[in-house]
Amino acid sequence: MEFPFYDSPDTATIICCHILERQAPILYVSHDEDDGMWKLLCGETHETDVAKLVHR
Ligand SMILES: [Zn+2]
Repeated sequence: MEFPFYDSPDTATIICCHILERQAPILYVSHDEDDGMWKLLCGETHETDVAKLVHR
């Protein structure tokens, strides 16, 4: 998976389980201005523990 972003490689990113397992496309992208954290979600509802904090 390629990420078309330009932050440093150690920027924290939250990706939901559906996108990680390629069961859904990325439909929601959020970029936190404060800490630079990216959130990539599929737009479906999630249990609180499915989103994973990863490093690109
Ligand atoms: Zn999802």
